[in-house]
Formats: sequence, structure tokens, C-alpha cells
Amino acid sequence: MTHIAKVIVVGAGPSGLLLSLILSQQGIKTTLVDMAETLDAAPRATHYAWPAQYEFIRAGVFEEILAAGFRVDNSVSWRKLDGTLLGQIDIENIPEQERMVCLPLNGLAKILYGRITKEENAEVLWGHKVTSIGQDASRAWIHVVTAEGENRLEADYIVGCDGANSQIRRSLFGDLEFPGMTWDQQIVATNAYYPDMASAGWGDDSAFLVDKDHWSMIARIQTDGLLRITYGEVPGLTREEYIARQPAKYKALLPGHPDPDKFKVVNISPYKVHQRLAKSMREGRFLLAADAAHLCNPFGGLGLTGGLVDVGNLSDCLVGIHKGLADETILDRYSEVRRQKYKDVVNPTSSANMRLLWQDGETAEQDEFFRLLTKARNDPAITQEMATSIHRIMHDFRKEYNIKSNGQVVDTR
Ligand SMILES: Cc1cc2nc3c(=O)[nH]c(=O)nc-3n(C[C@H](O)[C@H](O)[C@H](O)COP(=O)(O)OP(=O)(O)OC[C@H]3O[C@@H](n4cnc5c(N)ncnc54)[C@H](O)[C@@H]3O)c2cc1C
Repeated sequence: MTHIAKVIVVGAGPSGLLLSLILSQQGIKTTLVDMAETLDAAPRATHYAWPAQYEFIRAGVFEEILAAGFRVDNSVSWRKLDGTLLGQIDIENIPEQERMVCLPLNGLAKILYGRITKEENAEVLWGHKVTSIGQDASRAWIHVVTAEGENRLEADYIVGCDGANSQIRRSLFGDLEFPGMTWDQQIVATNAYYPDMASAGWGDDSAFLVDKDHWSMIARIQTDGLLRITYGEVPGLTREEYIARQPAKYKALLPGHPDPDKFKVVNISPYKVHQRLAKSMREGRFLLAADAAHLCNPFGGLGLTGGLVDVGNLSDCLVGIHKGLADETILDRYSEVRRQKYKDVVNPTSSANMRLLWQDGETAEQDEFFRLLTKARNDPAITQEMATSIHRIMHDFRKEYNIKSNGQVVDTR
């Protein structure tokens, strides 16, 4: 006997796509709805640490993702604006499996979507904007607006994977109820080709520039040489003003200080950055995952990685209920555990990653982090420990299944 007839997932970003794929693979009928007409192509996530890779492996998509992207096999460095090395992670001291995998989000989404279209338990409804929600003891529902008019869709459970401005979260807790903070600092994320980057001789896959005015990150994100260049900017300008300032920012921060004829920008997006956590990730038959539930700044690539671990955890909980191996209280545990992981790991680590960048490059050597990196160069165990510390965001809910095959309820917690 199975226990879940249908799950609706709101939001066909990477988290909603992965969740729909896993649930439908596990025999749960899934409807994925998104207000957009197609997959998003904005320059956002690119790097995925081991906890996300583990979920890709379990969903059977890892090999395809790795083939479309690449494993980070060169050093990760922190440098002064003039390129002087402040600290470096020697990649050869990190076991291959622990190295980040890089694939821009649009490439990842394409692969996940391609797999979903082959699953008979999954359907995808584009152009469906959720406007309000409701639930009673046995069902949950959403009201959607489409080009054809309004509709109501219902299911046993509904998961909000609808991103930072989640309508599901706002309907559950109120429009302004997303505890946390917004950084004063603004960032601008760009994708660009800059062939002369190689002549700087840095040899890094990712370099972070530590500087009060031009703090930034330069990372290789495609094997054809495409770079992600993300930099800090003054707050409060319009999108057009940020676009107009981009050539001057590149000239200031890129090695070789290039004029516009030396690079080609293919994408540019200013972002405000936040550290926020929803007050619960479960409210009755509604659940939240990934950006809908929590936000962090992008330095260190913890945002979506944390979101994909939510998805793996939540699918284990729902599959446990579906197969009669767990009761509904496991969903409260999902909320409790994932929120705690954000508080203990994602929020402090990502905040420290960003603060590290905007100090004075000239005095930054004294920073504890760079002193640790210097020590790590002579002690590979330190590098390994740093690389594997991200495992702390993982949790195995299958160990919390509490119903035996004879129906007896046991306490596993
Ligand atoms: C510059 C930058 C770089 C980043 N780099 C990394 C990185 O390297 N590694 C990493 O792990 N993370 C990174 N992140 C974070 C990462 O991009 C996000 O965490 C991730 O994209 C969130 O995915 P999601 O599926 O939760 O939400 P989204 O991708 O935002 O998807 C939400 C979906 O919901 C839909 N939607 C919204 N509202 C409604 C509605 N009312 N009705 C129906 N549909 C709706 C939207 O159309 C959208 O398709 C980065 C972020 C930024 C800004």
C-alpha cells in the first residue's frame, strides 16, 4: 500500500526540478508548476560541493552533470588586487571526490528537466503562477493564474521551491516575514570571456580578490574559458548604472587592467544579498526547500548546495511516508534539522567567506584564515579537514524511519 497520491512542487528552478525528479523516480505522482514559460538562464549557481554531488548521484544524474561541466582540478586562491598571493588551497591535497563540480545553473537545469520529461509519474506545467494557497486535514491546494484563466490544483503535499520571493512562504507566514538581514554591500555577477586572463599566470580555477573597493571572485566556469566575475559594488544604483560601471570595474580588478575590446561580457546581473531563514520549513501539508526557505550570499557556493541537500532530505521523508516506513512527524524533523544546519553551518560559513573579502589587502595576511592556509600548505590533513567540513550540512533521514514492516512504530530519534 502507498500513502501519497500526489505532490505538487512549486518552482522549476534547480531545487524544484531535482525534487520532482527524485519523487517521480520513487513512484510518487508529481506536478511541477512554474510561472515562467521556460527554464531560467540568469548567471547564478555554478559550483557544487560533495553534499550536492551526493544527491545528484542518488538521482542518477551525476555522470551527465560531470560530462557537461568539469571537476575543479586547479588551485583556489585569495589574492591582493595586484595578484600577490594571500593564501591558496592546494587541490592535490583534496581527494578527487571532495573537489567541487562546476556547471552553470542553466546547464544543470537543462539536464534535470530532460530527465523529468522521461518520467511517467512527473508532469510540468509552465506559465502557472501561484497566487494563493489553502489546506485542510486531508488536502492542500494552490490557486494559479495561467494564460487561459484561473485554476485550483490540489495534492497531499505541496512543496515551495519557488525561490527567494516564494509565494508559498509569503502565503504561510506573511509578505515581510523572512527573518534575517540584507547586506549593505551590493554584488554584480557577470559571465565573460577574457582570453588574456591566462597570461596573469595565476593557474587558479577560482581566485578571490581581497580589497576594500574591488573585492571580487574570478572563476573558470566552462571548459571553453567562460569566466564568472562577481564583484562588490556601491549600493543603491539602477541596473543600467551598474551595467554602465562594469567596464571600469573590470579595468580595476582584472589582471592586465583590460579595455573593453579585450573581453566579451555575455551576461550581467546585479544582486542584493541576504542571510535569511524562514521561521519553519513545514506548515501542515506545505513544505519549503532551498531559496524559498533560506538565503545566503554566494561566496563559497553554499546556497544551492544547501538547497539540494534539503531536497534529498525532504524526498527521503516523503518517500518514507509514501512507503509506510515513516509517519508525518518526520516532516517536523525535516524542518527542525534543516533549519539547524542553516544556523550552524551555512549562515556562519557563508557570512565569514564574504567578510573575508572586503578587508584591506595589505594587512589581510594577519587574518586567521590566511594563517591557517599557510599552515595547511605543509600539512595536507588541514586542507582535507577544511574541504570536508561542508559534510556537516548532510543528514540521513532514512535512519529516522520509525515504522517497521509489521506496522509497529519505533522511536529511532
Ligand atoms: C551570483 C550568484 C552565484 C551563485 N553561485 C552559487 C554557487 O556557485 N553554488 C551554489 O550552491 N549556490 C550559488 N548561488 C545560489 C543559487 O543560485 C540559488 O540558491 C539557487 O538558484 C536557488 O534555486 P531554487 O530552485 O531554490 O530557486 P530559483 O532558482 O530561484 O527558482 C525558483 C522558481 O520558482 C518560480 N516561481 C517563483 N514564484 C512563483 C510563483 N508565484 N508561482 C510559480 N512559480 C514561481 C520561478 O519562476 C523560478 O523558476 C548563487 C547565487 C547567485 C545570485
